[in-house]
Amino acid sequence: MSCRMDRLLFLILAQLLTTATCGTDPDSESEESDEGDMPDHWTYKDQDWSKGYKLCKENSQSPINIDTSKTTFNNKLPLIIPEGYNIPETEQLELSNNGHTVKLSLPDSMSISHGFTQKYLANQLHFHWGSATSSGSEHTVDGVQYAAEMHVVHFAAKYGNLIEAAQKADGLAVLGVLFQVGAQDNKNYNPIFDKLQDIAAEDANVYIPGFDISTLLPDQLYRYFRYDGSLTTPPCFQTVTWTVFNETVQISQAQLDKLETSLKAAHGTLDSNFRHVQPLNRRTVFASFSPLPTSRRIVPNIDSNAPSEATKSVDDDFTLGDMLAALFGILFGCTALAFVIYVIRQRKRQRSSTERGQKVIYKPAATMEA
Ligand SMILES: [Zn+2]
Repeated sequence: MSCRMDRLLFLILAQLLTTATCGTDPDSESEESDEGDMPDHWTYKDQDWSKGYKLCKENSQSPINIDTSKTTFNNKLPLIIPEGYNIPETEQLELSNNGHTVKLSLPDSMSISHGFTQKYLANQLHFHWGSATSSGSEHTVDGVQYAAEMHVVHFAAKYGNLIEAAQKADGLAVLGVLFQVGAQDNKNYNPIFDKLQDIAAEDANVYIPGFDISTLLPDQLYRYFRYDGSLTTPPCFQTVTWTVFNETVQISQAQLDKLETSLKAAHGTLDSNFRHVQPLNRRTVFASFSPLPTSRRIVPNIDSNAPSEATKSVDDDFTLGDMLAALFGILFGCTALAFVIYVIRQRKRQRSSTERGQKVIYKPAATMEA
């Protein structure tokens, strides 16, 4: 009995690895179930996954809508520091179409620890996207769904591997990056996007030379949202510490088109591989920064003439600029107040000395008249 349960668990976890914590082909519904009574297929078209995977209807599911007005500022969430992300060219990384997403396998020499309570090692990254007619990010911010989303999946080093860690409460850490369409190609993504046509067929794979994976992340790694959630695919383990960066990354429309149309799965184009947002319930979404109402996280729909970096300094400028302005304003105010007080005192002193002077002059006159 116990062995059977272990085997079932193993099969679930094996599926977790192959689905890369993310999507499946929305059209694949006819896969034979050969794993006993455990449903082994699910689709994005019918997301009522809890029939086969009970955890999928639990209270801490992902993705979620991040309502920035309800986030809680937490000053103990520091800058995320990717370590070992610059992979040498001599190292080959597997890029594959697993029928659910495009997945880039990552070496566990890559890690993150700053900004977390423990060390997490990288395993893979993958993407979620929409279609020609719809956006495809999983997380939404203030109700806005973005063009696409990248997940960089890490597992807690202390558990040794992804399978072991995936079922532990603090086992996984995923970095979420939201995409917007900008005017220019984002060349940092070329190593991946240029190879999509070579892995069009389901289960196809190629090897690409290592490159600096950190260039795929936004610049502002100190501004992010943090909450406890789940895998966004069955079996929906609620073991993910989510980090969703505030700053988006821009890719061109041509690059987004490639992502949305290049890959095939068993029943057609692999697209719209995103899960719908789940209820927040009683969870708190923390922000590593104070998301002031006037501090826009993203420049909404990018001016086509704007450089791709247009969004990147908005928040910085606001915060730093305003802090400096406030500081100098206070200093100026204090100086001005001190000056006014000084002037008033000087005038009083002059007046009283004038009055004393008049009395001095007056007395002799009185004396003379007396
Ligand atoms: Zn994912």
